[in-house]
Amino acid sequence: MSRFLSIMVYEEILYWLRENNEEKLKELWEKADLVRRQFVGDEVYLRGLIEISNYCSKNCSYCGIRVSNKSLKRYRMSKDEIIDTALLAKELGYGTVVLQSGEDPGFLPEEIAYIIGDIKSKAGLAVTLSLGEQSRENLKLWKRAGADRYLLKFETSDERLFKKLHRGPSAKKLAGRISQILYMKELGYEVGSGIIIGLPYQTYESIAKDIVLFKEMDLDMIGIGPYVPHPLTPLGKIYSSHKESVSKSVPNTPEMTIKVVALTRLACPESNIPATTALATIGGVEARKLCLLRGANIIMPNITPLKYRVYYDIYPGKTCSIKNIQDTHEDIIQLIESIGRIPGVGRGDRVRQN
Ligand code: SAH
Ligand code: SF4
Repeated sequence: MSRFLSIMVYEEILYWLRENNEEKLKELWEKADLVRRQFVGDEVYLRGLIEISNYCSKNCSYCGIRVSNKSLKRYRMSKDEIIDTALLAKELGYGTVVLQSGEDPGFLPEEIAYIIGDIKSKAGLAVTLSLGEQSRENLKLWKRAGADRYLLKFETSDERLFKKLHRGPSAKKLAGRISQILYMKELGYEVGSGIIIGLPYQTYESIAKDIVLFKEMDLDMIGIGPYVPHPLTPLGKIYSSHKESVSKSVPNTPEMTIKVVALTRLACPESNIPATTALATIGGVEARKLCLLRGANIIMPNITPLKYRVYYDIYPGKTCSIKNIQDTHEDIIQLIESIGRIPGVGRGDRVRQN
């Protein structure tokens, strides 16, 4: 066990990121599962994901709903539709809903505040927001309206790579994302962040730094998903036409994603870590299962009404697009029970050990 970070350090993380020997990796998987059990227990908490709008003013080079994708039909759910969907989440036994969208200027901050208040009073669920970069005023308004958590991935801590992926006047800024995360912590949000694994030109060193940053930021939730190339995006085109140079960087495979989850569990033992939808998209049920067995403790079932779900086209092949909400739910409960774990009841807040 000497290679394990009592508290993980950069060199140890890098060593494991580069390790491909299955026999040796068993040690990592076992340790990650043990730490998961000790710190967050056997419950797998479900967070109902509602994709409330696919309008976005940003142009992230990897994302299918970027503003330049003119061929996509855009939608914005009404207040009533969002609240009805949250009530359905309540019926299914979820303790939380996540309201996610592009950065949509068409949704007034006051409308979002109203929706948060209504979900809290009618469904009594924890409300998580994932609405991208927002002003301090909006973040304060929504906190006062009752929002509990906010998810904002920093995507990669490699400044050069980040700049390559986010160009143009309104582009995401790494420093802006980090300072929003810190400000939200000050406001009292539970805060989640995360990264994408296997972006073209991403290095192992940068992922080791990402994991160190997760720890330094003391994140409550950490989302780690593989890069899923979208053919209608600039990055998707680079991915398919420069296979050779891309293949030298970190692979966007289920194995690599799960390894980063396991290392993150060791570095941040108390954090809530989902087995992401992006992982299930490229690796199916087996990958999701392995991820839960190697550090993860959360699943975020997609409960967006079917008529909108197909248009939330961040990346192709999202596993849940064709299934109705009840089917997805039953599949997920079955998966959790098949590995001897327990569907979590209640909000599933981060629990601090001391
Ligand atoms: N607009 C908000 C929330 C929606 S996007 C925001 O950007 O924060 C949610 C996440 O989808 C992003 O953080 C990004 O990590 C992920 N994403 C976008 N395109 C992707 C792709 N092609 N492959 C994998 N993840 C992607
Ligand atoms: Fe918009 Fe988020 Fe996609 Fe960037 S990742 S284009 S901000 S939805």
